[in-house]
Amino acid sequence: MRHIVRAKLLVTTMLTVMISPSWAASDSGPSWDYKNQSWAQIKDSSTKPVPLNYPYATCGIGSSQSPVNITGTAATGRLNRPTPRYIPGTPLFLNKDHAVQVNTEEGYLGSVAIGNDVYPLIQFHFHAPSEHTINGKPYDAELHFVNIRRDGKAAVMTSLISVGAFNAEFQKILDNTPIVDGQTNAPGVRLNPNLLLPTNRRQFFTYAGSLTTPPCSEGINFYIFSQPITISAEQLAALKNLDNNNNRAIQPLNGRVVTSSKAGAMGQ
Ligand SMILES: [Zn+2]
Repeated sequence: MRHIVRAKLLVTTMLTVMISPSWAASDSGPSWDYKNQSWAQIKDSSTKPVPLNYPYATCGIGSSQSPVNITGTAATGRLNRPTPRYIPGTPLFLNKDHAVQVNTEEGYLGSVAIGNDVYPLIQFHFHAPSEHTINGKPYDAELHFVNIRRDGKAAVMTSLISVGAFNAEFQKILDNTPIVDGQTNAPGVRLNPNLLLPTNRRQFFTYAGSLTTPPCSEGINFYIFSQPITISAEQLAALKNLDNNNNRAIQPLNGRVVTSSKAGAMGQ
């Protein structure tokens, strides 16, 4: 029995180490906020054996940072379309310091396929207003589906959110996210992530970016659907009541190209 527990622990530790550059590390390290976004200048004053002096340096010196503004001059190209294979599950609903977040449960099998790559869905979370802008204009909110392979390679799929029709699946998230920061709900609520994706997934933008929160790790491919999903004005107000203005400033492209899946995809 004991060796099974130990083996499990080892696997858990290995997974944590492998995926930490992509998302787990954002839970550790010095605190940060959205009011002062000079995250690269935050010093680590912890007593860890080998502290990184500036653990969020990438936020400042990285050249492929997110989010970005997407303009009408986006290049068009033949692209592998992200194909979500999400399934209903019983995730955990978290009120994190910086966002409303939904973590898929252990053993969840939903993933997104992009070309020959399959990325398991680990968590999704919200920003309000949106982080990416289209021709300089933000949307009311933005949903980031964080899909991470075991080797750490990550793809973030994004639903832009506009105020419009009531969204019943989104309401489940509002109803089950604890009011208090740092708390998690009792599990067991069934949620279908597919219902938080737009129906038209043929038109999207893609580019190479980064986490939009410290440590701002790069090497993350973004897939942003042109067609937004909707939530009602009341639902947007409720989301903002939990976390508001949790959007990072637009970052320079530094020569990167945002590719559009289809000509004329702008303004959808
Ligand atoms: Zn995000």
